[in-house]
Amino acid sequence: MEGAVDGARTAHLASPAVQTFAGSCHCGRVRFEVDADLERVTVCNCSMCTRTGYVHLIVPPERFRLLAGADDLALYQFGTKTAKHRFCRHCGVSGFYVPRSHPDHIDVNVRCLDGVDVSALTPNRFDGRHWEASVGRLEV
Ligand SMILES: [Zn+2]
Repeated sequence: MEGAVDGARTAHLASPAVQTFAGSCHCGRVRFEVDADLERVTVCNCSMCTRTGYVHLIVPPERFRLLAGADDLALYQFGTKTAKHRFCRHCGVSGFYVPRSHPDHIDVNVRCLDGVDVSALTPNRFDGRHWEASVGRLEV
């Protein structure tokens, strides 16, 4: 009986849907962890994301932990200034930010996670060039 319980617990921990990933900026001053389901990543064609190449993973704040670098983050805002575009002020890389669509969530850049092959993912596509018309269909 005890063996069955242990087996069930192991199976739960081995579930592929949500895993913990470590992430960082390029210089390593900003480090974080996220509990993530990589089936739910999104790319966007807006003026910002086309330039940065962001691969978005939007998670509730309890799934994100900033481990280091809070004082190394700079802020860039534009347009409605709802989104808080954070980036490392030393190396310029943005590992996460607060998105306009979900300002109570964290949007992690999958490209900054350790051990993730971005080319193997199948992202959803968000038409950020027509943000107001598209945001109602954005699922995270
Ligand atoms: Zn950095």
